[in-house]
Amino acid sequence: MDFRVDPEFQQKLDWMNRFVREEVEPVDLLFPNASSMYDTKNEQARALIRPLREQVKAQGLWACHLPPELGGKGYGQLKLALMNEVIGRSSWAPTVFGCAAPDTGNAEILALYGTAEQKRRYLQPLLDGEIVSCFSMTEPQAGADPKEFTCKASRDGAEWVIEGEKWYSSNARFASFLIVMAVTNPENAPHERMSMFIVPAETPGIVIKRNVAGMNDDPDDGTQAYIHYDRVRVPFDAMLGKPGEAFKVAQARLGGGRIHHAMRTVGVCNRAMEMMLERAVSRRTQGRLLADHQFVKGMIADSAIELEQFRLLVLKTAWIIDNEPHGAARTHIGMCKVAMARVYHDVVQRAVHLHGALGTSRDTPLAKMWMGIPMLAVADGPTEVHQVQVANALLKSAKPAEGLFPSDHIPTKLARIVQKNCMNPLKK
Ligand SMILES: Cc1cc2nc3c(=O)[nH]c(=O)nc-3n(C[C@H](O)[C@H](O)[C@H](O)COP(=O)(O)OP(=O)(O)OC[C@H]3O[C@@H](n4cnc5c(N)ncnc54)[C@H](O)[C@@H]3O)c2cc1C
Repeated sequence: MDFRVDPEFQQKLDWMNRFVREEVEPVDLLFPNASSMYDTKNEQARALIRPLREQVKAQGLWACHLPPELGGKGYGQLKLALMNEVIGRSSWAPTVFGCAAPDTGNAEILALYGTAEQKRRYLQPLLDGEIVSCFSMTEPQAGADPKEFTCKASRDGAEWVIEGEKWYSSNARFASFLIVMAVTNPENAPHERMSMFIVPAETPGIVIKRNVAGMNDDPDDGTQAYIHYDRVRVPFDAMLGKPGEAFKVAQARLGGGRIHHAMRTVGVCNRAMEMMLERAVSRRTQGRLLADHQFVKGMIADSAIELEQFRLLVLKTAWIIDNEPHGAARTHIGMCKVAMARVYHDVVQRAVHLHGALGTSRDTPLAKMWMGIPMLAVADGPTEVHQVQVANALLKSAKPAEGLFPSDHIPTKLARIVQKNCMNPLKK
């Protein structure tokens, strides 16, 4: 495995690094709310990011996750991993680089399963960053286990009628369309009961009951919608994929989303590390710099080691996606998801702690990082679900021991070797 890149691409990364620090991070300070990021009608914020997007486009770095047929570069995941490490430093950078979730995944679904008309109406403006979208899957009574979902869609003449509730549908209030998962074939096996639909935002019956605020958001500025689909009617061709194929369609987006989150988490952790190092060589206590205390050195070393391990896992996963058959990276993507939440927690916790009272305030980016910890472990499926998936994949090829003792039981093995070589039993 080779994680090096050509000098030309390295120059792009260097440009990105400068650009994100100098031009994009200031936007984070001016518009810190998630809502301003997704509200395409927020003219003040849009006016600020329009010229930044032009610079990204001029560098050929707009929406690089896309395949060439959709206007992307066709960069593999390894290059995207390195780019996302830079993008991860700033909340606004994904919007400025045309690769913000959930629009990236929704674009993938539309590109794969949309009709020509749906692509014309939604895909192109989404790819151009003119509109935003929503992925509406989780329900208030069930998230981590979609087999418990009850929101249903029934046929009525040439239409589907969607009825039920969804929860934590990010950015629904700004979205031009929603991709909704609903039960259509209750008689099928659990994983074949649901289908995916594209629902234009102006369709009658989409009732946003509340916009729930995450820990990071202002309480009255939530972006996570609790929605009642109250007999929402969509045409027959609103189904994306075939009846009962929602899991297959969802998987097309979630795999990519998870690895991109992991790549960006490396970027946020790098920023926390930089802050930790600066603090260690700036602050004095007991007549010495923090950096001269062994406990502090331990925190720095542990953070660097854990982050490097995680980064290599992410790069290896990206390499597998680029070089091995489709689906080969599934277990590694699960590993990244689990490791991501843990490493992020540990590195950010140490950075906060080393900043003392300042670290507990809202005066540094560490506050936002800290409040992101629980979300990283829950969004896109909680840690435990991925642990189970990783373990199951490994256990699939495990075989039980043939006899009473494990295959590596030394006395049993030794007895076999002795017998095979017609030796006398070893004596002390
Ligand atoms: C910031 C954020 C954005 C989100 N955006 C969207 C979105 O745009 N669209 C959307 O549809 N959803 C979205 N979600 C919802 C997300 O997908 C769900 O929160 C996630 O799937 C977990 O579901 P849940 O919240 O119902 O947790 P639950 O299913 O209630 O799980 C709670 C806890 O139970 C335990 N648990 C659950 N399952 C298992 C298991 N199999 N084994 C062992 N323990 C288990 C875990 O400790 C888990 O954390 C978002 C969530 C967050 C935090």
